[in-house]
Amino acid sequence: MGFAPALDGYAATDTATGKGREFPELADKLPWRWIDSPPHEPRMPPHQYVDGYKLTRDELPMARMLESVIDHHPESYLAYFRGYQQYNRYLEIGDGWRYWRAFFGGRSFPHRQRLDASERPRRVDECARPIPPDVWGAKYPFWPQGSGYGEWKREGGKWNFHREDPPPPHPPEPQRPRGCCAVCGRSVMLKRNGELYAHNAPHPGLPPCPGRLPRAQISR
Ligand SMILES: [Zn+2]
Repeated sequence: MGFAPALDGYAATDTATGKGREFPELADKLPWRWIDSPPHEPRMPPHQYVDGYKLTRDELPMARMLESVIDHHPESYLAYFRGYQQYNRYLEIGDGWRYWRAFFGGRSFPHRQRLDASERPRRVDECARPIPPDVWGAKYPFWPQGSGYGEWKREGGKWNFHREDPPPPHPPEPQRPRGCCAVCGRSVMLKRNGELYAHNAPHPGLPPCPGRLPRAQISR
């Protein structure tokens, strides 16, 4: 199986056959399923995934090509979803879905959610930073901020929510002053004099910023 993303439009080229595949065609060929969560669970946003363990021989290259478009398309973007400490790469192609991939047990699972299924992920190029778990205040990073701690349990045919105590708070870590780079949009640490301090540490998956900036180009 070989493929290369073709960056015009939302397509990938199957290098074994030379055939171009449009992203919507790839998405249509995959067996999407809705997540199972407790009925009335208000916190996990509805979304679909493709089970990376159960792909057929025909589906496997479609999934890999779809993921390749997500990984390489210039309109894809890095963003933090809710309380996760690691960002994901997302792609929106105008079909009402937001696509990404996730890894479980070393297998890649394509994912997608309707654009209105939850608030939008916070983009790295819009100065987003991960929100520490105790500031997030929820048992799972995919729960909304401040939704607390506990578990859903099925008891006598009914789903009940069992509240738990929050973990003990951590002392806050000292934070260097930060600003937003006016060129690449990323959050940057500042020196005492207000200049960029650690902007050369690149985000994996983002091109390096075009260089150090004068103080005037940094917004706070
Ligand atoms: Zn920059």
